[in-house]
Amino acid sequence: MPKFRLILLTLVISLSSVLNAGLNVHVKNDKSQHILSTSMVNGVEYADFKNINPLFGSVTKEDRADHRYYFHLYGEQFVFFLDSAYYTYKTETFCMQYPLAQSGSEYLIPLVFLTEHLPLHFPQSVQYRGTTLQITKAKDKSVLRIVLDPGHGGKDPGAVGKKGTREKDLNLNVCLKLKQLLEKELGITVLMTRSDDRFVSLGERTRFANEKKADLFVSVHTNASYSRSTKGLETYYLSTAKNTDSRAVEALENGVVELYEGAEEKQKYDDLDFILSDLSQAEHLENSNSLAIWVHKNMVAGTKSQDRGVKQANFWVLRGAFMPSILIEMGFISNLEEEAMLNNPSYQERIARAIFEGIKHFKYRFDRIRNA
Ligand SMILES: [Zn+2]
Repeated sequence: MPKFRLILLTLVISLSSVLNAGLNVHVKNDKSQHILSTSMVNGVEYADFKNINPLFGSVTKEDRADHRYYFHLYGEQFVFFLDSAYYTYKTETFCMQYPLAQSGSEYLIPLVFLTEHLPLHFPQSVQYRGTTLQITKAKDKSVLRIVLDPGHGGKDPGAVGKKGTREKDLNLNVCLKLKQLLEKELGITVLMTRSDDRFVSLGERTRFANEKKADLFVSVHTNASYSRSTKGLETYYLSTAKNTDSRAVEALENGVVELYEGAEEKQKYDDLDFILSDLSQAEHLENSNSLAIWVHKNMVAGTKSQDRGVKQANFWVLRGAFMPSILIEMGFISNLEEEAMLNNPSYQERIARAIFEGIKHFKYRFDRIRNA
């Protein structure tokens, strides 16, 4: 009797190890090996999308009302139908022999889809050789890394208010609060061109963003005007076209180069003008514009400050940045009322929250389009 039990036990173990063998997956881009766990449903081997997505870099979305399940991979979309063996891809219908299954809230796909169908649809990126699926993991094109750029710093105080408030301090305070929100609530990596009171040249700021391969560049400033009554919010994105209204702010923000970096440096930025700026920002102009619109709209709604609009200007700090970039002017330090307001930590919190909401909305929209 004990002998028989042992045999039975061995049989059960070997059987279950066959059932849960899983699929060998070799990810070519990072040369890593994985075992994708599988399970049997009615005698057919299935894999769970929950395990597939992190391996492939794919994204899935369910539409319960429609009984549809969407699978996004390499910028393409597959539409599955619950309990159906059919799916559509590029307006064509394909049959997997076995239906899409559900286990609790998870969706399971017949393994044959991965080993036979994907190699057919993406011969460059997916191959099934021997018992191993060789794949190229899709790159995540979502907004994952943001560079925040608190304007001025160190020997360059930026604009100074009547009560002695320095622009560089306000910019840094708001950026530090914004960093926390982005990291905590969106899980984004936030890098700062400066995290304390130090001087950073304009060129270094964009170079930093490019080197870190940031997805967005957000430069935070405070405005100033000779007219003490001027107040309100402005959000800028880069333009090489001249617009008289923006030129005062442009002169103000670009002026720090001659003042703090010297005339020789200024010439360099001027030369850079025609070489770099058009090339780097041109393809991001549309996204920079929509980022500016989202952030501005949320700032106006969140602070109730005067809306001076989304504008284009030729800022040196935005030049040469290979990503959607904006420059925010949070209010006028030259206006007594706004100077006091901007100095108030709870107002700084509020404006950081408003900028955060704008970035969040942009990210949701942008991620959907980029990964669709
Ligand atoms: Zn500034």
